[in-house]
Amino acid sequence: MFTLLFVSFLLADVLIGLWLASRQIRHVQTHRDRVPPEFSDRIGLHSHQRAADYTIAKMQFSMVERITEAAVLVGFTLLGGLQFLDHHLGVLLDNEMLRQLMLLGAVLAIMGLIGLPFSAWRKFKLEARFGFNRISPRLFIQDNLKTLALSLLLGTPLAAGVIWFMGNAGANWVWWAWGLWVGFNFLILWLFPTVIAPLFNKFTPLDNPEMAERIQSLAKRCGFSLSGLFVMDGSRRSAHGNAYFTGFGNARRIVFFDTLLSRLNVDEIEAVLAHELGHFSHKHIIKRMVVSFAVALVFLLLLGWLSTQTWFYVGLGVLPQLGRPNDALALILLFLAVPVFTFWATPLASWLSRRDEFQADRYAAEQCPPERLVSALVKLYDDNAATLTPDPIHSAYYDSHPPAVIRIQKLKHG
Ligand SMILES: [Zn+2]
Repeated sequence: MFTLLFVSFLLADVLIGLWLASRQIRHVQTHRDRVPPEFSDRIGLHSHQRAADYTIAKMQFSMVERITEAAVLVGFTLLGGLQFLDHHLGVLLDNEMLRQLMLLGAVLAIMGLIGLPFSAWRKFKLEARFGFNRISPRLFIQDNLKTLALSLLLGTPLAAGVIWFMGNAGANWVWWAWGLWVGFNFLILWLFPTVIAPLFNKFTPLDNPEMAERIQSLAKRCGFSLSGLFVMDGSRRSAHGNAYFTGFGNARRIVFFDTLLSRLNVDEIEAVLAHELGHFSHKHIIKRMVVSFAVALVFLLLLGWLSTQTWFYVGLGVLPQLGRPNDALALILLFLAVPVFTFWATPLASWLSRRDEFQADRYAAEQCPPERLVSALVKLYDDNAATLTPDPIHSAYYDSHPPAVIRIQKLKHG
C-alpha cells in the first residue's frame, strides 16, 4: 500500500516536473525572436537570444538530472540498494554506531559520486558554452575535496549525535536531536564568514571610499549595524555576480562578488543593497530560519513515529533487521521519501518567497529612486542571461523571484 503511494507520488512529481520544463522550453523558444517592449531600449536582440538559448539548455539539463535522481531513488529503495548496503555493513561491522554512520556515509558517498559528473558537466559544458564558467578543473577538484573534508569534519559529529540520541535518550530524543540541530546551524552561521568561506575564496576589504561611504550611510538610515564591507574573488569560479550579508549581531558584514562591482555603478550597487536591507528590515531572514527549525522539528517527530512502523521500511524496499538499532536506516529512508511527498508544496514556498521579494523591492524604492534598482536589475538579467519571458506556470511553480517584467512594472508604477 505504502509502496503504491510512494510510486504514484514519485511518478506524478517526475511527470509534472518534465511537463513544466517542456512548457518553459516552448515558451522561451516562442518568444526568442523579440525582446519584450519594456526592455527593447536596453537589451539587444542578440543578448535576448543568448538568454533564451541558455535557459533552454539549463532546462534540458535539469530534465536529465530529474530523471536520474528518480532512478537513483528507486535504486536505493524499491530495487534494494539500501537493503544491500545495510545487510553487508551488518555482516562487516560489529560496532552499532560505526555501522550506522557507515551506512549513512555510504549513501551520501554514492549520491555524491553520481552527482559529480552532473556538476562537472554543468560547469565545463553548459556554463562554459555561454561564457560563464571561470573555474579550472584543478580548482574544481580542490573545491570538491575541501567540501568532502568539511562535510566529514562537521557532519560526522552531527550524525553521530542524532543517532546516539535516537538510541539512548528515551522518549524525549526528538527534543535533544532538535536542540543539537539548531545548535549546529548557529555554529555554521558563526563559522561561515570567518572560517568556512575563506577556505574557498579570498576576501579583501572594499577599497572604494566613495562606495563605502554611500553604503555605510544607507546602512545607518536603515538601522543596520555593519562591521565590514568585503569584496570576494567570485570571478575565480563564475562570471555570475552577487552580493550577500553574512554573520550576525554586530559582526555583520556585506560581501560583494568582484563580478558585481565591475558591472554596476555606485547608484545601482546602493539600490541592490537597499533591496537586501529590505529583507533584513522585514525580518525575512529570521522568519525563514524559524520556519526551517519548525520544519526540522516536524521532520524529527515524523521520524520518531515512522522509525517504529514496519510498513515504512518494508514499503520502501528494506527489511529492517530485528534485534539491533535501525535509526540511521529510518533517517535515510525519511530523507529520501520526504521530498517525494512535498514536491506539490513547491509553488507555495515559491509564492511566499516572491512575496518577500516584492516587499524588499518596495523597501528599496523608498530608500533610493526606483529607477536605480530597475537599471541594476536590467543589467543583472542581461549579464546573467536570465530569461525575460518565462512560462507563467513554470515561473509560478518554481521561481523564488518574480518575473522581470512584473518586477520592473511594480517598481516603476508602485
Ligand atoms: Zn531579494
